Amino acid sequence: MARFAECGEVEADLLVCADGSHSETRRRLMPDVEPRYAGYVAWRGTLEEEHAPPGLVRFFDQSLTFCETRSGGHILCYFIPGHGAATELGRRRLNWVWYVNVLEGPELDRLLTDRTGELHGASVPPGMVPADLTAEVRADAAGELHPRFVELVQATPDPFIQIILDVVVPRMAFGRTCLLGDAAFVLRPHAAAATAKAAADATYLAAALAADRGRRPRETLGRAARRLPSPHARPARRGRALRRDRPTAAAQVKTYRSLDADCRTYRDTAIG
Ligand SMILES: Cc1cc2nc3c(=O)[nH]c(=O)nc-3n(C[C@H](O)[C@H](O)[C@H](O)COP(=O)(O)OP(=O)(O)OC[C@H]3O[C@@H](n4cnc5c(N)ncnc54)[C@H](O)[C@@H]3O)c2cc1C
Repeated sequence: MARFAECGEVEADLLVCADGSHSETRRRLMPDVEPRYAGYVAWRGTLEEEHAPPGLVRFFDQSLTFCETRSGGHILCYFIPGHGAATELGRRRLNWVWYVNVLEGPELDRLLTDRTGELHGASVPPGMVPADLTAEVRADAAGELHPRFVELVQATPDPFIQIILDVVVPRMAFGRTCLLGDAAFVLRPHAAAATAKAAADATYLAAALAADRGRRPRETLGRAARRLPSPHARPARRGRALRRDRPTAAAQVKTYRSLDADCRTYRDTAIG
């Protein structure tokens, strides 16, 4: 039995908790697991291709461009679909992500405080970053980045901020309840696979449910957890207690790189 604010009590065979990186269900199932700040933030922005200077489009087109910054960190740029998932020339968006080390405390709080004075937990969305911070990041760009990236950052109307968090759970299945996607693991974005990983979790679970139709849900979830490409699922396959150590970033990248084919399918479906 699960109780929801909007639809009251619901009785079901399975409870799939996919409520994101700040999952309330994870907090209840494993109160000790907390998102942990990784020590750096991502300044991000998107620029409509039609509003970008043509030289900038030519420079960044057909590649994922990466640039080290003068005082540490790096920035990268690649194209993403535009409005309505458009991928035609002229209708795409330039997407950039600039990783910057920021100490936890007042410095981080300043970045996470929006233009109304509200302090956010993990990101400040486009349009809500105070004008003085936007001016600061544009000015910093001039001293830190390759001239093309300076142009890109300065031409982007509403840069926004996301902090980089780590979340790792020691297990994903709890009897007839399971955690999926960011509720279970938040991958650092460098593997470029966070959404694909969440989709892969759902796909593995759906396949396990289809294969086990008619069996007991508790067994199905255990089976799904064993099939999941999670670093924590492997010991379960060998019938041992689930590991309690944290997978390294390298292990995460290796695990999810093996999902490349799946990722391409999700991406191609998503962008048509
Ligand atoms: C600013 C930002 C930028 C990102 N950029 C990228 C990117 O470029 N590429 C990439 O691959 N990934 C990116 N990610 C990560 C990506 O968004 C996640 O990995 C992905 O959305 C995880 O999917 P999910 O379904 O597990 O969780 P979510 O997409 O977070 O979905 C969780 C859902 O649960 C709902 N929910 C939460 N609590 C409750 C509750 N108590 N009851 C009912 N519903 C609830 C939420 O409203 C939400 O709809 C980004 C994340 C952020 C924050």
